[in-house]
Amino acid sequence: MNTQRTTQEWQALDAAHHIHPFSDMGALNRAGSRVIVRGEGVYLWDSEGHQIMDGMAGLWCVNVGYGRKELADAAARQMQELAYYNTFFKTTHPAVIELSRLLAEVTPPGFEHFFFTNSGSEGNDTIIRMVRRYWDIIGQPERKVIISRHNAYHGSTVGAASLGGMDYMHSQGGLPIPDIEHIDQPYWYAEGGDLSPEAFGLKVARQLEEKILAVGPERVAAFIGEPFQGAGGVIFPPDSYWPEIQRICRQYGILLVADEVIGGFGRTGHWFASQHFGIEPDLMTIAKGMTSGYIPMGGVAISRRVADPLINEGGDFNHGLTYSGHPVAAAVAIRNIGILREEGIVERVMNDTGPYFQRCLKEALADNPLIGEVAGTGLVAGMQLTRNKATRELFPNRGEVGLLCRDFCFANNLIMRATGERMLLSPPLVISRSEIDELVSRAQHCITLTARKLG
Ligand code: PMP
Repeated sequence: MNTQRTTQEWQALDAAHHIHPFSDMGALNRAGSRVIVRGEGVYLWDSEGHQIMDGMAGLWCVNVGYGRKELADAAARQMQELAYYNTFFKTTHPAVIELSRLLAEVTPPGFEHFFFTNSGSEGNDTIIRMVRRYWDIIGQPERKVIISRHNAYHGSTVGAASLGGMDYMHSQGGLPIPDIEHIDQPYWYAEGGDLSPEAFGLKVARQLEEKILAVGPERVAAFIGEPFQGAGGVIFPPDSYWPEIQRICRQYGILLVADEVIGGFGRTGHWFASQHFGIEPDLMTIAKGMTSGYIPMGGVAISRRVADPLINEGGDFNHGLTYSGHPVAAAVAIRNIGILREEGIVERVMNDTGPYFQRCLKEALADNPLIGEVAGTGLVAGMQLTRNKATRELFPNRGEVGLLCRDFCFANNLIMRATGERMLLSPPLVISRSEIDELVSRAQHCITLTARKLG
């Protein structure tokens, strides 16, 4: 690859030939993209030589940090040994076998089978097909409806975006597909009104029961949720929420699916965010942290309840991807999970860096007039922007203040994401205490600049 070009040359070629995801290309091409050229630990460098602190671990995925030679070596070794083979026609290979075995060790008890994809979106498309196939095999083929939440994010393919509850995505391309229903999200700060968080959590969880009864219990196949909403704004549900959802799923016998694409592989200090909330899902979508983003890989973790009929009674499951269980991706995932284990990274998030990060962030922003709440656990946090802390009033032009703050972050070489009226942090899990100090002080600085600008 030619790395000798100037920033202007990169930007001109990018504008001439590249369509970015989720972007207004006209506006982006006029402004010019930032060109990221290198990463090490929790830092990135752009083509102008700026050192940027990545408070988002890429897109919530670079759990072991940038520049891990072990992962590059694992990929190179596997490419030389067996670069590719499929697992379709009565064949398999050591990398995918070892990865499956390893996942059975790190996932919660009861998960012993895994299906592989290239992304979280394809993982959730697999969920739709597998859930419906499960009920076919069980002899209840009328169970097709999957219930999700407004403002959920489950990916960008036709199926996954339908599961998601992002109206701005549904408005393009005729989504959602049939037999997907949505209930309200457990976003107390913005939608809880005068209710206590606990009362609100119960109220929105019980919408699941109302929806099941409205659809007809005999037609409902599953409920899907991110244990905490990620792209929706790092929204942590009230404590009352998940136990009630779990109770309702059990009462009506429907499958419970946890989308662990962000929460999985250590983000909360547990291996899976379900464990933080005490959720016992039947299926989990996994991706991102499984390979720390070094190579694309996603999948579905399948509990015995679903695996047993699928394996023993189902015959062919007519679903699969050329790269399901790709050997190079599997080899990287194996080494990545090895690093997470050998270096005790997940335990450190639980016992040390996670609590330290949460405490520092809350202390730094406690008196900030712009921040209504800091939600999170482990190494993920959502900071609510508010016009009035006492009344939880939101800004009228939702999103504008977030973008203003994000611009200050950009100018100050900090990557912090803005979603609506929340600022998000989700740094690499290898971040040290001193780097947390730097992250929090930069975030505080940018939020203060935003508050000043707003007067
Ligand atoms: N589920 C969740 C919870 C996600 O956050 C994402 C991506 N941010 C996805 C699914 C989709 O994953 P991918 O972008 O790898 O398709």
